[in-house]
Amino acid sequence: MKVDENLMISAAGEERCAHCDALLALGGEPHLFRAIVREVDATALGPQVRIAPERYTPAAIVARLTLCPGCLTQLRVSVGPRSTADHRGRALGAALPD
Ligand SMILES: [Zn+2]
Repeated sequence: MKVDENLMISAAGEERCAHCDALLALGGEPHLFRAIVREVDATALGPQVRIAPERYTPAAIVARLTLCPGCLTQLRVSVGPRSTADHRGRALGAALPD
């Protein structure tokens, strides 16, 4: 089943890149478990981050780019404190119907 333009999920819950067929997660693994996660400074996202986060919080704020390990297509981006492993969680795969 094609979830969006970048992600396919099999009936067994295996996630693959829709562009290059790279394995992103086996059934039962967390969503995008085998994807590459790259942290960059949040201001690197461009005009979406208009003011440096340091103006509002003492926490280091980073952008996490989740990329396909096969073709480097960006699958997800999230912004949050560096101190959290992944503030948006990885529960999407678990929430899909059987
Ligand atoms: Zn790919």
